[in-house]
Amino acid sequence: MLSFTFFKSGDYSGYKEMGDIIMTGDMGKPETSPESAEQRINELREKIRYHEYQYYVLNEPEISDAEFDRMMRELEQLEQEYPELITSDSPTQRVGGEPLDEFSKVTHSEQMLSLGNAFDAGEVRSFVDRVYRLAGHRDIEFILEHKIDGLSAILTYEEGSLVRGATRGNGLVGEDVTPNIKTIHTIPLKLKKEAVDIELRGEIFIKKEDFERLNQQRMDREEEPFANPRNAAAGSVRQLDPDIAARRPLDFIAYSVLDPKRHSLKQHEETLELLEEQGFKINWYEKYKDVEQIIKKCEEWTAQRNELPFEIDGIVIKVNDLALRDQLGATSKSPRWAVAYKFPAQKKTTTIQDIKISVGRTGALTPTARLEPVELDGSTVSRATLHNEDEIRKKDVRIGDRVLVQKAGDVIPEIVKVITEQRTGQEEKFEMPDHCPVCGAPVLREEDEAVVRCTNITSCPAQKREGILHFVSRNAMNIEGVGPALIDQLLAEELIDDFADLYFLNKKDLIPLERLAEKSAENKIKAIEDSKEREFFRVIFALGIRHVGQNAARILSGAYTDIDRLAEAEKEELKELSEIGPVIAESVVSYFQETHNREVIEKLKKAGVNLSQNKTGDQQRELEGERFVFTGALDNYTRNEAQDLVRSLGGRPTSRVSGQTDYLVAGENPGSKLEEARKLGVTVLSEEEFEAFLK
Ligand code: AMP
Ligand code: ZN
Repeated sequence: MLSFTFFKSGDYSGYKEMGDIIMTGDMGKPETSPESAEQRINELREKIRYHEYQYYVLNEPEISDAEFDRMMRELEQLEQEYPELITSDSPTQRVGGEPLDEFSKVTHSEQMLSLGNAFDAGEVRSFVDRVYRLAGHRDIEFILEHKIDGLSAILTYEEGSLVRGATRGNGLVGEDVTPNIKTIHTIPLKLKKEAVDIELRGEIFIKKEDFERLNQQRMDREEEPFANPRNAAAGSVRQLDPDIAARRPLDFIAYSVLDPKRHSLKQHEETLELLEEQGFKINWYEKYKDVEQIIKKCEEWTAQRNELPFEIDGIVIKVNDLALRDQLGATSKSPRWAVAYKFPAQKKTTTIQDIKISVGRTGALTPTARLEPVELDGSTVSRATLHNEDEIRKKDVRIGDRVLVQKAGDVIPEIVKVITEQRTGQEEKFEMPDHCPVCGAPVLREEDEAVVRCTNITSCPAQKREGILHFVSRNAMNIEGVGPALIDQLLAEELIDDFADLYFLNKKDLIPLERLAEKSAENKIKAIEDSKEREFFRVIFALGIRHVGQNAARILSGAYTDIDRLAEAEKEELKELSEIGPVIAESVVSYFQETHNREVIEKLKKAGVNLSQNKTGDQQRELEGERFVFTGALDNYTRNEAQDLVRSLGGRPTSRVSGQTDYLVAGENPGSKLEEARKLGVTVLSEEEFEAFLK
């Protein structure tokens, strides 16, 4: 496989041949006047752009890598000599930006809606029928395109040069990721045809083959592999260091132009042609009028999707005529002129090789099936969750069974059913153990509960380990650099027995551990030290009290100013709190009754960990009756949790936007409330802004 190497400025070793430029003297320094340099620079840029296009977009290279590299180096050297001639759209400017601290926000010129879905032929027919009805006639062309499973990006060109690349974000506000966007070779830094001002959208993705290679590299370096190409692409685009993004095999396909009238576009087909002429890769597309043919095509692609070099999760069906699109308009969520036919989840058969039990933080024993690996929706699957004993019994899953598996939600695969016809009689029934597989303590299944738990709450190594992992996790104490590998070593060396012990470690304890350099040990100790100042609600969450999630932790931290008061709280008074039910109340009380837990808390106190509301800067803002409305999906909270949170701080969550509304919090795919809020001049907050606002 061919690949061009890009040299950073300064790397000219072995550099001799320089094309048209005459070399004189020992220094190898070309004798050029600024004028001829400029001419040569322009010439080189043209040539390089042409060959980049041939190579990356058309996949039809005309010259060797070496020749290409030579031109690139010549250009780099000339630009180094004449830095005043460097332009941001020069091919040399794809790599080498400084890492950023954070991305700045970009408000999109036009809201990025999502697409409505059609999950079967009937829903495709309803979509087409609605278009017919609204249009008042049936003579309508539709364009079919692949729905590439990546992330969308908005590119802005001014006078033909790329000036900005942004992510979709919540549809209204995205992030400016220009330095990363520039590293994508299928995105021209300069348009091919006309030097126009244009804004366009497309999909950033990673091809399957590149994804496999990337994950292999990561595994070789003992880094966590990405779950799927989409996650890999999204993670890469949001890298703060463009050098890292440059090493990720990102690709781009353009699919729409904003303000098409301005470019005299009348049909979607023309949009695609324009994008292609301007140097972009475009999607496969076909034009149809007949709905039955459209359905047939969707079904064909359902069967053929795996043959494509990249992942698609459906087919987008779009009205071709742009004037008709305007007439059809959009709902608050999605345009009425397009729909995404979504492929049904893939189901495959495989064999259950074994059933393994893991023990979680609360002692729950969870059975997981080990599968003979199969390819499902683009990734290799080798485990499936079995949830609990009842589930195993209900599905009658046995070791050795042939089973049908599918992906549930985003990544976790599940067993759809056992193919009993293929049983040989050799299959083994699985029994939940009556002892913890890790510590050997008896297990208990509480009434009304489907889960079986290890009863050794004070010293089961599995519960201990998971409890510590929870304590250091991002939403809890957020102790960076202290992960599973280190915790396992610390436990094995008996340097810690519970999470409070982390605070009594010093550098000398860590250094002898495998593969830990002094600097790294120092950083870890500092991260642990810094976490002493975390807000009180995080500490409550970090303790790992059963049923106390982030939201309950916030409410408790608001109601009780310090840990001692919380520890003394009675069940009845806890239940008085809004959103704290009997289950949580019971759990809190019994947590603090446990001597072992009280001892751990004493240790935290001794270590100087913040255990009260007032000590650090976590006085949360008092909302004093301010009215909040939510729209769209939030990443960190369910709608209920977000409303509870507002309530717990004295604010008032309401469901309609009115003149009385103080804030509208807009998540992913916001609804019509957003428009409404805009009209009424209500302050709109993104999820991040909302969180920052509460601090
Ligand atoms: P959804 O997020 O399911 O509402 O679908 C909308 C998203 O599909 C867009 O934001 C794009 O990221 C993505 N997409 C992929 N391929 C296409 C395409 N050919 N046309 C429009 N959107 C596409
Ligand atoms: Zn145990």
